[in-house]
Amino acid sequence: MASPGELRLIERLTSTEVFEPEIDDDGAVSYTEAGQCLDATDGEPVTVLERFTARGVLADEFITKVYVCPDCTTEGLQYTTACPACKDPHAVQTTLVEHSCGHTGQESAFETDDGYRCPECEQDLKSVDIEKKHRYICKACSERFQTPANRLRCRECATHLPPLEATERVLYRYSLTDAGRQWLDRQKRARQTAKETLEERRFTTEVDTTVTDGGTSQPVHVLACDELMGEQRVVAIHETPTIDDVDRFCAFANESIDAHPVVITTSGAVETDVATRAAETELTVLAFDGNGEGTLEPEYETVETAQAHEAGLFQRLSAVLEIPGRQ
Ligand SMILES: [Zn+2]
Ligand SMILES: [Zn+2]
Ligand SMILES: [Zn+2]
Repeated sequence: MASPGELRLIERLTSTEVFEPEIDDDGAVSYTEAGQCLDATDGEPVTVLERFTARGVLADEFITKVYVCPDCTTEGLQYTTACPACKDPHAVQTTLVEHSCGHTGQESAFETDDGYRCPECEQDLKSVDIEKKHRYICKACSERFQTPANRLRCRECATHLPPLEATERVLYRYSLTDAGRQWLDRQKRARQTAKETLEERRFTTEVDTTVTDGGTSQPVHVLACDELMGEQRVVAIHETPTIDDVDRFCAFANESIDAHPVVITTSGAVETDVATRAAETELTVLAFDGNGEGTLEPEYETVETAQAHEAGLFQRLSAVLEIPGRQ
């Protein structure tokens, strides 16, 4: 099932090539241009993009991962070392000197104008008598340590956190596949054929429009009116219509706008329950003959589940194009 907004989104990729990700103010991954194509009823762009990728219409390309502050949702955390005892980042690397008398201190405390002297036992030292060590010293709690803790610092709210506590976002860029191009072409031809067929029957048509009923507005593929007869028809284009799609669509058509619902299958099949519904209620189901004449036919196949049917359809399409099928 592709809504009018989803069809616009897929079609946008024929001119814009790719949808690039952004991190929005809430720290979530967003696709602004994809979002502009969708209607409020379509849901989140990222969900729509993932769904069409799973079906092979779109391809996703991994770009990178970004890390977001879990406290203030800002992107761009900076690496810092920190004290393993008190977690303060104000821990600095210094050179410590150890004297054989047992005293250990910072190198600067041993330095005099003419060499080294132990500040504890005041013995003058040659550089061979001392041992130098590199250590971190915490300026907050004076802990000395060799290996600092790894932390990330938020530039915005200055919080520090262990790296694995940062929110990880995976960024993909999306493009249209060859199979997707064929899929889009078929949906658009089906829609155009529906429009022309209705116009031949003296209907005035609107394609990819919104029908408003009271406070709610619903996007539709084709709306057709016969002013003379006072009749309305509303057309939904589906790959393989499911009973849920059809029931929702019929409820809207019959109850909200008093229009006769027409469902077009672009795969030539519908779920078995849809065929039953068409036989029992005011619903017209037509199959789009995309491989042949490009006409709308009253005969169609039935399948148990649309999902399995669509998956099989795409495997065949992908095989024809010699691209590897996706899981
Ligand atoms: Zn923050
Ligand atoms: Zn000493
Ligand atoms: Zn410390």
